[in-house]
Amino acid sequence: MKPHVLTLNAGSSSIKFSLVELGETLVTRAVGEVEGLGGRPRLRARGDETGTAERDLDPEEARDPDGALAAILGYLRATCANASVAAIGHRVVHGGSDFDQPILIDDQVLAALAKLEPWAPLHQPHNVAGIRAARAAFPEAPQIACFDTAFHRGHKFVDDAFALPRHFFAEGIRRYGFHGISYDFVSRRLFEIAPEVAFGRVVIAHLGNGASMCALRGGKSVASTMGFSTLDGLAMGTRPGQIDPGVLLYLMQARGMDAPALSDLLYNQSGLKGLSGLSNDMRELEASDDSRAHEAIAYFVHRIRRELGSLAAALGGLDALVFCGGIGENSARVRAGVMREMDWLGIEADAARNAAHAGCISSDASRVRAYVIATNEELRIAEMTAAAGLGRGPR
Ligand code: ADP
Repeated sequence: MKPHVLTLNAGSSSIKFSLVELGETLVTRAVGEVEGLGGRPRLRARGDETGTAERDLDPEEARDPDGALAAILGYLRATCANASVAAIGHRVVHGGSDFDQPILIDDQVLAALAKLEPWAPLHQPHNVAGIRAARAAFPEAPQIACFDTAFHRGHKFVDDAFALPRHFFAEGIRRYGFHGISYDFVSRRLFEIAPEVAFGRVVIAHLGNGASMCALRGGKSVASTMGFSTLDGLAMGTRPGQIDPGVLLYLMQARGMDAPALSDLLYNQSGLKGLSGLSNDMRELEASDDSRAHEAIAYFVHRIRRELGSLAAALGGLDALVFCGGIGENSARVRAGVMREMDWLGIEADAARNAAHAGCISSDASRVRAYVIATNEELRIAEMTAAAGLGRGPR
C-alpha cells in the first residue's frame, strides 16, 4: 500500500476531493467532486488509470458530508486500490487573525474553527462539517486545516484595517484576504519559472467564479482586493465586488430588504450574472451577442484594471502580472482587455502569445512580464498536509 494524502474541500452543496500519492514528488492520482448535496447528488471524478467517472448517487445515502465522503471513499477504493490514506488536508476558508499557517486539527482547533463560522457563514460551517465527517471516517490519520486567509497574515496595519472606530479592528472586523492557497501555489511556480521577477513586485489575478487579486513582494502577500469577506474587490460570477456601503443602507432602510435578502443579492444575484441578466459563466457571456453580456465583461475587465493600478501603487511599481483561475487561464479576451494600453505601467502584451495561452504573454520588449500559470489548490493543500501532518517536504 502506498501512502497518499486525501484533500477535501467541503462547500454548501459539494465536496471536492483529490488523492495525491506521496513519492519523490507528489502525483495526483484522482480528482473529483460530489455535487448536488441535499438535492440530486452526483459523483464526477477522474482517475489517472481509470479515466473519468460520472454517476448519480442515492439522495438518501449522500445527503450530508458523511454520506458524500462515503461515496468518495467507495470510488477511491475501486479506483486506487493500492492507496492508503496517510493524512487528510482540508481547505478551510477562514483562519481568523490567529491561524497563519496549516495546523494539525485536534478538538481545540476544531472548536476554534467552529467559532469562526459567523465570519464566513456560507463556507465555514461546511468546512467544519467536512472535517467532522473525515475525522469519523479516519480517526487515526492526521487531519490538517489549510486556510485561504493564512497567506495574507503578514500585511501592514494600513492594508488590513478599515477606518472604523479602533475597537472593531481588535474585535476582528478587518481585512483578511482569501484565495491564499492559490496565490501560494502560483507564487511558488513563478519562483520556478522566473525567479528574477518572483523576488520582485508581483500582482496575481485569480479570476474564477470567485475572483480576487493579490500584491506580492518577494513571494509574500502585501495587499489583496478581498477583505473581511469574499465579497469585496473584483466583480465575480455572482458577487458584485466593491460597492458603496450606502447602497446597502438604502436597500435596508428605504426598500425594506433584510439580511437574508441582502445576502442572497450579494452572494448569488450580482456580478456577471446580475449585470448580464444571462449567466455567471464567462464562456456563455463570451459566446453571446447580447450587448448586456459585453457590458458585463467590460465591467469585469475594468475593475481588474483599476485594482491593478491600486495594487501596483501599494507595491511601489510592478515587475510581473500573473493570471490564473478558470477565466485567467482560459480567456484570452479578458487578459487582452486587462493588458490593453497598460504601457504606462510597463506592460506590453504579445497578442499572438496571449491568443495561444502561452506561459509568458508579454512581448520581449515589455518591462513588466505577464504570465499565465495554472493554479492547483489541491496539490498545494496536499503539499502543506504532507509537511505539517507527516513532516515530509517543504512547508
Ligand atoms: P471556481 O471559482 O468555481 O473554482 P473556476 O476557476 O473553475 O471557478 O472558473 C470558472 C470560470 O472560468 C467560469 O466563469 C468559466 O466560464 C470560466 N472559463 C472556463 N473556461 C473558459 C474558457 N475557455 N473561456 C472563458 N472562460 C472560461
